[in-house]
Amino acid sequence: MLNETLDAHREGFLGSVSGIETDFWDEVVLSVRAEYLSDAQDYPWIIGFSGGKDSTVVAQAAFEALLQVAPSKRKRHVHFVSNDTQVESPLVMAHLAKVQTAIASMTESFRLPVTVVTTRPAPDKTFWTLLIGKGYPSPNQTMRWCTDRLKIQPTRRYILDNVSAHGAAIVVLGVRLDESDSRRNSINKFQNLAGSNLTPHSELPGAFIYRPIVHLTLDDVWEVLGRCQPPWGGTHRDLIQLYRDAEGGECPVVLSKDEAPGCGTSNSRFGCWTCTVVDKDKSLQGFVDSGNHHFSALIEFRVWLKGIRNDPRYRSVERRNGEIRFNARGEQIQHVPGPFTIQARKMILDRLLAAQTEYGEPLISHDEIQQIHAIWAEEISQPARQRGDVA
Ligand code: SF4
Repeated sequence: MLNETLDAHREGFLGSVSGIETDFWDEVVLSVRAEYLSDAQDYPWIIGFSGGKDSTVVAQAAFEALLQVAPSKRKRHVHFVSNDTQVESPLVMAHLAKVQTAIASMTESFRLPVTVVTTRPAPDKTFWTLLIGKGYPSPNQTMRWCTDRLKIQPTRRYILDNVSAHGAAIVVLGVRLDESDSRRNSINKFQNLAGSNLTPHSELPGAFIYRPIVHLTLDDVWEVLGRCQPPWGGTHRDLIQLYRDAEGGECPVVLSKDEAPGCGTSNSRFGCWTCTVVDKDKSLQGFVDSGNHHFSALIEFRVWLKGIRNDPRYRSVERRNGEIRFNARGEQIQHVPGPFTIQARKMILDRLLAAQTEYGEPLISHDEIQQIHAIWAEEISQPARQRGDVA
């Protein structure tokens, strides 16, 4: 059914200009250009740019479209927004930084109304401050506290700032119907506004979603990356190589809870290197297999962290607010353990610093270590009830 819908759409997509057969990529760029020039509004575009294949194709479509618009008509500002969880897969971050620099430099040369920006979690909400500072148990499918704090909130702040400044903002996403069943369901849940390509954002008032490549297939995406040069210079060869080395997949740009199911699943292999939600980090293993042997230190740390999660020796009896919690499962009442104990947190920090030495690059920042020590000091000096948050 999905394939029939896609085929029908693609048939209409090809050859739709005056009966002359046109290339599907030209059509995508033309439709993005038309959307950019829409006279209904000129709210800023916020392109969620993870550096992965789908968001690169969207960024390319927007950039090419912008170059085709006369300078006097470039009234809408375009933001290329990437999010750095600060525990991203290192090779993915290195690739992303390179492309961001190229986009920013080309933007300057052409005087395009573009801002390239990276959002990050608040200093007291990074992976390490929550896990090692406050003792949040390493995330799993039932307690995935990380996606919201590391990915959704930082980008959400940026979008809302733009909504406040301009009255509304349009979030441009590289999501596609054929990515997965959950993606298709989340896309189909909301209808476009009448006569427009925009859908109201499910959680952010004043924000709208625009999905320019929603009908492209995976093959289309690889075809574009394989045969079209990026308009900001260079080639897509590094990106293609990254996928080859990692054996495919990426943690998509996540902007709302509707989009979150893909994060930390087997479909999301370019996630945080610390991700304990997945059983195996296939991309890191792929990087090791393709010659990056120093990533073994990261893999070993992640496996160890996942392994100690449910060990009662490392978990407090009480939650951070002093509660003792139980779960009823049928006839059985089970104690729900609290956060990692302070001793366990110290052990995790020591082990992380040892992994950092072995890896040879920073894995935790000096600021995070200071935050962690401040949280420990507060916890030791204050009764649980005054600390408030539950973990
Ligand atoms: S990749 Fe894993 S650790 Fe990172 S935000 Fe997603 S679920 Fe959490």
